[in-house]
Amino acid sequence: MLLSFFSLSIKRSMPKLVLSVVTLLLSLSSHAAWHSHQFDVMGTRAAIELWSEDRDAAAQHFARVEGEMRRIEALMSSYIDSSEVSQLNRLAAGQSMIVSEELYQVIGKSLYFSKVSQGAFDISIGSVGHLYHYRDKVKPDDVELQRGVAAVDWQSIQLHKNNRISFARDNMRIDLGGIAKGHAVDRSIALLQAEDVESAIVSAGGDSRMIGDRGSVADKGHDASDSPSTQRIPWMVGIRHPRQGESEGQAAEALRLPLVNAAISTSGDYERYFFDNDEQRIHHIINPGTGRSAAGVVSASVIGPESINCDVLSTTLFVLGVERGLAFIESVAGYDAVLIDANGKVHFSSGLADGD
Ligand code: AMP
Ligand code: MG
Repeated sequence: MLLSFFSLSIKRSMPKLVLSVVTLLLSLSSHAAWHSHQFDVMGTRAAIELWSEDRDAAAQHFARVEGEMRRIEALMSSYIDSSEVSQLNRLAAGQSMIVSEELYQVIGKSLYFSKVSQGAFDISIGSVGHLYHYRDKVKPDDVELQRGVAAVDWQSIQLHKNNRISFARDNMRIDLGGIAKGHAVDRSIALLQAEDVESAIVSAGGDSRMIGDRGSVADKGHDASDSPSTQRIPWMVGIRHPRQGESEGQAAEALRLPLVNAAISTSGDYERYFFDNDEQRIHHIINPGTGRSAAGVVSASVIGPESINCDVLSTTLFVLGVERGLAFIESVAGYDAVLIDANGKVHFSSGLADGD
């Protein structure tokens, strides 16, 4: 409306400067362009970038994605008392609760990955995870740790008919921190696809997924001067250097990957951590067997078609370490991995090793 008012009121006598401002306004509002939006959700930063024919449409996409992520947070966060997950976490052994189909499916997928990873991925890690407070540099003492570890057991999470869930043990807590963000990214991408968005990237912390590529060099605002116009431009996604730039607060990149229509998740020991009195790094990815921070690698990235699987697998590979992690990812069709060990050595799964 504002636009048509402006265009109608342009008079021949109008000074050139005003005309050019109006032209600029017109081109800014109606021109196809890259648009981006960031917000905080699920204890992390979410970011969206997409190509849109106009700004209003982009703003609508952003509002839908933000709403979707907040909905999933309200359902699945163990930090929100009213969430379904928090309600489950208050169940005693033998009590049960009917949950939403969506939560039932996400828990079902978690249990599937627990089984195939022989327990390296285990959402009942919440039973011990809640004893760590990274910002306050708090970790459980040995007695608390043993009590917590006793309730880490994915096989004690029982799925019944009609979306009913129970726990076979007392003091069990589930924590979807290793799967919910990937799920939220997939749901966001599905929303954008339904709205015919053809180029987009959605991230929630270390979990990202892309629709398409960034266009050809001749369109979507790229400079076609020195390349053939048909050449396609992939998304370039960085894997953070696990150590460089950490203390300066300026994260450096270890490597960059060209990706098209794919998802990538990275789990790192630099996301949430503190150093204890013995100078040990206490971080948020926990070995379910010990209840302590996993020490296999310092960064695990997984690339594949779906963000929920990449999210789970990156956490899983972090726990499994280089040797078992690489062997495991080879058994998962369509997914590849980049692991960085404690010496800074980078390991690729076979699908990436030849520079594919
Ligand atoms: P991510 O950043 O995706 O690697 O997920 C790490 C988060 O997953 C942690 O902050 C915990 O909420 C949760 N988590 C930690 N260890 C495990 C584990 N072994 N299995 C499943 N979830 C875990
Ligand atoms: Mg993950």
